[in-house]
Amino acid sequence: MDLKKFITTVPDWPKPGIQFKDITTLMDNGEAYKYATDQIVLYAREKQIDLVVGPEARGFIIGCPVAYSLGVGFAPVRKEGKLPRETVKAEYGLEYGKDVLTIHKDAIKPGQRVLITDDLLATGGTIDATIRLVEQLGGKVAGIAFLIELSYLEGRSKLRDYDLLTLMQF
Ligand code: AMP
Repeated sequence: MDLKKFITTVPDWPKPGIQFKDITTLMDNGEAYKYATDQIVLYAREKQIDLVVGPEARGFIIGCPVAYSLGVGFAPVRKEGKLPRETVKAEYGLEYGKDVLTIHKDAIKPGQRVLITDDLLATGGTIDATIRLVEQLGGKVAGIAFLIELSYLEGRSKLRDYDLLTLMQF
């Protein structure tokens, strides 16, 4: 299936110069959403995944149906202040300043094989911080899956040590 035809590019959103890749036009098509999810499930099966981890909010949209299909759990990565119990943190750089991602301290058992999911790989900063959270808790990042890779931003070079699946490249 040609998944690219389900992605809508919105020019100059949320600010001038950004070509925003809107995945909602893929998600609201049952066949396309299922096909994309199934591709990631096939990849995950080869990696013997124990747990799926994804950053808010679009990492949930991709990761939760994959976890359900595999019959494994899903652990959310959220912005600071959103998770109710003890967390570990990782900082990452934004265009201006920095942000913090968190995960519950007991979300991963040491040695668990983790699949990380998100909608889109841009500079790789978000996923780099997510990897650091998983590894702080003793998880092994067995694979990372995205719907979309913006190849011209070279986020892949930050993730050189990891196995990546991207379903579409722009
Ligand atoms: P990065 O940390 O630079 O890899 O950015 C990745 C995060 O920002 C992803 O979770 C995306 O949801 C979002 N993002 C960055 N650039 C775009 C874009 N051009 N279109 C849609 N989402 C984007």
